[in-house]
Amino acid sequence: MTDSDPLYCPLCGRPNRCGQADPASRDQPCWCFSAEIAAEALQRIPEAARGRSCLCADCARGATPATTDQNG
Ligand SMILES: [Zn+2]
Repeated sequence: MTDSDPLYCPLCGRPNRCGQADPASRDQPCWCFSAEIAAEALQRIPEAARGRSCLCADCARGATPATTDQNG
């Protein structure tokens, strides 16, 4: 386990698809620039990951991370 990897969501551990974390797309605005981030989700980010790791789109919306792997 790596802690606060900027490529992964600190809440659910899935790739956050943040444009800023990927050198290839760093020049382009990330989806999170225009997304509404739930205040509740921000508060759940571990201290160590704050300012380093982006949330994934689901967690940013305030969705509860799934505990099981479901493709659907
Ligand atoms: Zn997430």
